[in-house]
Amino acid sequence: MGTRIGERTTLGDVAEFDGGLVAVADRTWAWIQPNGGLGESNAGLVVGEGAALLIDTLWDERLTAAMLEAVVPVCERARAPLTDLFNTHGDGDHWYGNGLLGAGVEIVASAPAVAQMRTEPPSMLTRLAPVGTLLGIAGRIPGLPGADHFRGLGGFSSMLGAYEFGGIEPRVPEHSFDRERTLEIGGRTVELLFVGPAHTTGDAIAWVPDARVVFAGDILFNDVMPIMWAGPVGTWIAALERIEALDPVAVVGGHGPVGGVADCVALREHWTWLREQVLTAGPDADRLALAERLIRSSEFEPWRGWRGPERTLVNIARIEATEHGGSSEIGTAERLKLIAAMGALAERLRR
Ligand SMILES: [Zn+2]
Repeated sequence: MGTRIGERTTLGDVAEFDGGLVAVADRTWAWIQPNGGLGESNAGLVVGEGAALLIDTLWDERLTAAMLEAVVPVCERARAPLTDLFNTHGDGDHWYGNGLLGAGVEIVASAPAVAQMRTEPPSMLTRLAPVGTLLGIAGRIPGLPGADHFRGLGGFSSMLGAYEFGGIEPRVPEHSFDRERTLEIGGRTVELLFVGPAHTTGDAIAWVPDARVVFAGDILFNDVMPIMWAGPVGTWIAALERIEALDPVAVVGGHGPVGGVADCVALREHWTWLREQVLTAGPDADRLALAERLIRSSEFEPWRGWRGPERTLVNIARIEATEHGGSSEIGTAERLKLIAAMGALAERLRR
């Protein structure tokens, strides 16, 4: 089960690697969704004696049900029903499927992640979709100023069309923690460590010491350009260093294939380089032009294979906004503006 190489992904691309349930270590699995694009998120499973932990659900209930169809038989064979769920952060592609889990499953996330979940229900996206369609149509009017930005937002909303947000009432976690929390899953220890704000305000990771596996949520995008909605980037770099210091044998990121320490290092080096470039360019630089120049430069070579380079636009904007003590919180209007500009950049990069 799951998407295999060569098949169509949820977003309609050709899968470049195998998805589905992947054994990562002893009684430890990842659920992988190729190609790790928008909403093509991963999850995890840790099975103990008579208890099991799920790490994240997916963006809609159809995708989450498909995952559970693979996960539940594994739990049944081990006589270890799902007892716990940890959501790594507050973005919908990691928790909108929570409602499918039984009432007996206890759900936990960091306190800022829970706060984000309360303000970003699926209905937020169902409201956005028709607006995006209209803007996409407006973007085709010849000579309209900023038409490429309108088309950018239209493209984003058409990607949302691959998911089913209508009628979902996901369960917000009933437990939260500030810095750390230790779960005991049928004799196995899982440490939840808060490492945000970075990708979002509420990022946390799960460390499974007996298997030496980290479930990093969206602190690791593997072979995919990460997107930084919160920042500052220094916190993200520190989070990657913390993962590296644990010396794991595998790191399951929120998007892309199962990775390891080398992938964390590659991402950390990308962030260090990008921060330097943004600070050198200064606050008055045209962000779109700067992003395009950086992506086309030879210095970008180590990260050339990562899908979605246009996300660099958002990352530049968030580095500028947070580098000198600015807030990690981002408003909806600013987020939409950045999504539109990102679409415009993607169009330029295709030329
Ligand atoms: Zn995600």
